[in-house]
Amino acid sequence: MHGNEPAGIRALETLFRMLEEEPIRNPDFTYCGEIIGITGNLRACKMGRRYISRDINRAWEVGHIKNIMQAEKASLIDEDLEMRDIIDTISTEISMLTPDHLYLLDLHTTSADGGIFCIATGEAESIRIAHEIHAPVILGLLQGISGTTLHFFNQNNLGIPATAIAFEGGKHDDPLSVNRCIAATINFMRAIRVIQPADVDNHHDELLKKYSEGLPDIVEVIFRHHVEDVAKWQMRPGYYNFRPVDKDEVLAMYDGLPVRAETDGLILMPLYHNEGHDGYFIVRQA
Ligand SMILES: [Zn+2]
Repeated sequence: MHGNEPAGIRALETLFRMLEEEPIRNPDFTYCGEIIGITGNLRACKMGRRYISRDINRAWEVGHIKNIMQAEKASLIDEDLEMRDIIDTISTEISMLTPDHLYLLDLHTTSADGGIFCIATGEAESIRIAHEIHAPVILGLLQGISGTTLHFFNQNNLGIPATAIAFEGGKHDDPLSVNRCIAATINFMRAIRVIQPADVDNHHDELLKKYSEGLPDIVEVIFRHHVEDVAKWQMRPGYYNFRPVDKDEVLAMYDGLPVRAETDGLILMPLYHNEGHDGYFIVRQA
């Protein structure tokens, strides 16, 4: 979805090879469902940029999608065209396969180091799946922002019930983020019962559990710091996911002025790249 986050794409390339080879190694292996992997913003990926003209993961508003779907495809550009392609791809699969449920796993990485996590919607099913991935679960993130894939694919917007979760696999350029995205996807497939638990190698659980050691099981977002103009934003060095912060601690500079932590808690997704509007989130153990 974000063109500066290639780990999820590499992970799915490897995963599809594994799924092809598994039945040869393990004749009892069956996949009960259909999986499709989508590169969420092909043009941004080619440019290695987070997005072309707007953050695609803030553009999934129901009204906006309706306009995109009604427009002439030739008139669409940038993220609007990318979103149209994604919906067309998913809709074509739905009409061919007539599934009764759509499960969406949105793979991401972060500009800061220090932890992997799952972002769940408020639905029990999404939270259950997030727990079964074995990474810290973030609740309440969707209240402060809008237009994410989780907002859109969490409802019956494609004519069938849908459940969505997001996984953040670590730092953008850490090669191990690819392994963690593979492990999360396999655990996700196990959680939604398209593969049998007996067919899943323990090392996927171990990899994620080990990396989550010392991190909270479940946290709730209590604050999001909005950045209007990212060119004026400079995060102070040394912050990483789940690092404790104290109220009034200077976290960043904005236009030459200090930005102080609004409250005590753990910092999440401190913004170290120069695109986007989320400066950081502050979370607390739920
Ligand atoms: Zn992302």
